[in-house]
Amino acid sequence: MAENIRELTVELGDRSYPILIGPGLLGEYDLSPYVTGSQVMIVTNETVAPLYLEQAIRCFPGKVVDSIVLPDGEKFKDWQTLNRIFDGLLEQRHTRKTTLVALGGGVVGDMTGFAAACYQRGVSFIQIPTTLLSQVDSSVGGKTGINHPLGKNMIGAFHQPRAVLIDTDSLRSLPPREVSAGLAEVIKYGLIRARDFLDWLEGAVDRLVALEPEALSEAIHRSCACKAEVVAKDEREGGLRAILNLGHTFGHAIEAFAGYGNWLHGEAVGTGMVMATDLSLREGMISSGDLERVVALVRRAGLPERPPAGMTPDDFMTRMAVDKKNVDGQLRLVLLKALGAAVVTADIRPENLAATLSAFCE
Ligand code: NAD
Ligand code: MG
Repeated sequence: MAENIRELTVELGDRSYPILIGPGLLGEYDLSPYVTGSQVMIVTNETVAPLYLEQAIRCFPGKVVDSIVLPDGEKFKDWQTLNRIFDGLLEQRHTRKTTLVALGGGVVGDMTGFAAACYQRGVSFIQIPTTLLSQVDSSVGGKTGINHPLGKNMIGAFHQPRAVLIDTDSLRSLPPREVSAGLAEVIKYGLIRARDFLDWLEGAVDRLVALEPEALSEAIHRSCACKAEVVAKDEREGGLRAILNLGHTFGHAIEAFAGYGNWLHGEAVGTGMVMATDLSLREGMISSGDLERVVALVRRAGLPERPPAGMTPDDFMTRMAVDKKNVDGQLRLVLLKALGAAVVTADIRPENLAATLSAFCE
C-alpha cells in the first residue's frame, strides 16, 4: 500500500500537518500517531456512516473510539446540530486530550473542525474528507464554521487539523454530479496558479470523470499542493488567498438566484469561471483561444457553462454588490492575466462587465 501513498505537508511552522492521498487508505492507514490522548470521537453523517464508519474506526488501533452520526445536509450546518457534537463529547466524557475526526464532506468537516476549535477551548482534529470537493478544498486550510440564518459560514474559527487522510476509493460511492462539482475547484487551481497542471487536466479530465485512481490521486495531490501553498503564504486571507475565489463572485450570485441547493456550489463555480474568463478576455488580458479552452474543459468536467435560464444582469449585479472581497463598496473580482495566473482587481471597465453579463444572460 505504502508505494501508492502520496504525501505533502501544509507548512505552518509548529502547526504543520501532512495530507496523505491514495487508494485503500480507509481502514488500513494507522492514524493513531496523530491522536493526542487515548480518546477519539468520529463525527459523520447518516449517509457516510453506513459506507465508511467501520473502516474509519480501524484507522485508530489501540484508541477508544466513539462516534456521532448527524443528519445529512447543508441545512444542518447550524447551532442545533453543532450542539449535538458537544452533547456527545460531554456524555461520553471526552477530555481536553480528545481528538475529533471529521468523516464526510465539507459540511461535516466544517462543523467538526469548529466543534474542535470550541470544545474545552480547543482540541485536536483530523480530517477524513469523502467528497472530491472536501478532498481538494475544504479539508485543507483550517477554515471551520457553521451557517447563520442570515448568512452562510458566518460563525466560525480558523483551526488547522493535525492530519488529512484522503482515500480516493471513497469517491466511488459519490453521485456523479458531486464529482463534477469537485472538479470545478480542481480546474480552478490550474487556472489561477498552475499552467502545467491545467495542460495536464485537459488530457486527464475524462479519466477523472471516470474516477480512474491514478488520475484522481494526481489531481488531488496537485490541487492540495496548490491550496497548501496559498494557505501557507496567507493563512488568514490577508491578500493572496483571495485568488482561490476565481469564479466564486459570479458563482455565489448564481447559487443565491437559483436557491441554495438547486445548483451545487461547484456547478455555479464552473459557470462563474467561464464568466470570469470571458471578462478577462474583454479586458484584453487573455485570448479567445484561452476562453475556448476553459469552456471546453468545464464542459468535459460535466459542469454547466451558462447561468440558469431567466437570470438577468441585474440579478448578478445586486448579488455581486455584497461580495466579501469588495472594498468600500467597490466590486473586486478575480480575473486571469494568463491561463495559470490570477489577479484580484477592482480595475474593471463597467462596459466590459456589462458585456459579459449580457452575453451570458438570455
Ligand atoms: P456535503 O458535505 O454536503 O457532501 C455532499 C453530499 O455527499 C452529502 O449528501 C454527503 O452526505 C454525501 N457524501 C459525502 N461523502 C460521500 C461518499 N463518499 N459517497 C456518497 N455520498 C457521500 O458537500 P461538500 O460539497 O463536500 O461540501 C460543501 C460544504 O463545504 C459547504 O458547507 C461549504 O461551505 C464548505 N466548504 C468549506 C471550505 C473551507 O475552506 N472550509 C471550502 C469549500 C467549501
Ligand atoms: Mg469554492
